[in-house]
Amino acid sequence: MGAKWTLQQLVDEGYTVTAYCHRCHHNGPLDLKRLAAKLGPDHPAMHDDLVGITHCGKCREVKKMGFVFQPASRTGNPFNGSGWKG
Ligand SMILES: [Zn+2]
Repeated sequence: MGAKWTLQQLVDEGYTVTAYCHRCHHNGPLDLKRLAAKLGPDHPAMHDDLVGITHCGKCREVKKMGFVFQPASRTGNPFNGSGWKG
C-alpha cells in the first residue's frame, strides 16, 4: 500500500482492519462500512488517519490504538501454515 487508501477502497478490496489497544490489549475488527457511512467513503484510512476516530471498546482508549490491515485472501488464510509453497 503505497498510495493513500480510503475507507471505501478497503471495503471494496475486502480488507479486514483489526484495532488493537496497547493499553488493555483488547482487539477486534473495525466496522469499515459503518465508519464509511459515518465519515464518508473518501475518508483516508491509513494508520494515522484511523487513530482518533475509533476507541477501544473495553477501556475507551483513543490514542494508543494500533491497526492491522489484512488483505482479503481468495485462497484461505496464508498464515495458518497450509498456504505456503516453498
Ligand atoms: Zn483498551
